[in-house]
Amino acid sequence: MRKKLEQYGWNDFFEAQFQSYNSIEFIPARVSVEHRKYYEVYTSQGELTVSKSGKLFHNITDYPAVGDWLAVKIIPGEDKAIIEAILPRKTKFSRKKAGTTTEEQIVAANVDIVFLVSSLNQDLNLRRIERYLTLAWDNGVMPVIVLNKTDLCDDVEQAIAEVDGIAFSTPIHAVSALNNDHIDELLIYFEGNKTIAVIGSSGVGKSTIINDICSDDTMNVSDIGLYKDKGRHTTTHRELTLVPGGGLIIDTPGMREIQLWEGAEGLSEQFDDIEQLSLECKFTDCKHDDEPGCAINEALNTGVITQERLKSYKKLLNEVKYFERKQDIRAKLTEKKKWKKISVEAKKIGKEKY
Ligand code: GDP
Ligand code: ZN
Repeated sequence: MRKKLEQYGWNDFFEAQFQSYNSIEFIPARVSVEHRKYYEVYTSQGELTVSKSGKLFHNITDYPAVGDWLAVKIIPGEDKAIIEAILPRKTKFSRKKAGTTTEEQIVAANVDIVFLVSSLNQDLNLRRIERYLTLAWDNGVMPVIVLNKTDLCDDVEQAIAEVDGIAFSTPIHAVSALNNDHIDELLIYFEGNKTIAVIGSSGVGKSTIINDICSDDTMNVSDIGLYKDKGRHTTTHRELTLVPGGGLIIDTPGMREIQLWEGAEGLSEQFDDIEQLSLECKFTDCKHDDEPGCAINEALNTGVITQERLKSYKKLLNEVKYFERKQDIRAKLTEKKKWKKISVEAKKIGKEKY
């Protein structure tokens, strides 16, 4: 029974969360679309609907979002179920509700990877890409940069190089969704039934990319047809869609409109290059003074970073608040290193095909 759930993204993490509901009474269900009064969910018993009125939640954050895993009780003889609980989320994308500072609204849950889409037919906005990267990292989601519309760009290599300069080894893929060019490089990220969201400004080609990914030749999933026929987002299609070759795409209006923010995060992101270098230091607690095997000192000697910059970095480092933040960045960078390997592999696959 669990095997069937895996295609919807079920894994050991959720299995562990489900333990307290593990009885014949409850089954796991994943929210595929939210309607005004009910949710549609994927379960091992097929697709069901779950009423919103069944359970009382205190505030909007407590309600399930697309991508959430629930414990539900099936109503015998009906295609309906009653919600018992939302399983703890692995990740979430949220936004502040307009007009409030504290109330957040979850726009998508349990996203593993996010494609950050930009278009190459206009000036590349590197600051915007940086903010998208921060948004992804702050939500604990692995980013992949997708540069679309290569067919309209004279110097793709140059564009990639520019983006690479701010990406800190985030994978970058240049594609043309219109021509289905290099789109298959993106398919590797869906392996292991990963859930992927696609964000970027309006018009950069998000729908076209999703169409390409979902209209694979092996297509045999009924709900993919909606994307193929209509080509565009409609309110009736699923917001969590199975990809023919495995994995899922989350595409909700809330996710598309997610706001970018600047501020405190931007400040520490500014020293990512030093953080990145310090991962190479011999000692994990290196103070970058004159310890042996210090990568920062070497970078100073070779002129990769300036004394000035290191000084301001150290100043920040002394602040406890920043130190906590640093732990966070370090964890993210380690994660990114792992992904770098996967992206190299993805590029290899792309090259073999052409
Ligand atoms: P979205 O708003 O991000 O979902 O963008 P769409 O997928 O709706 O695409 C916006 C426009 O860009 C449409 O007219 C697409 O046909 C066009 N488009 C998408 N991808 C490409 C591409 O790779 N090359 C070109 N030339 N146009 C594209
Ligand atoms: Zn060091």
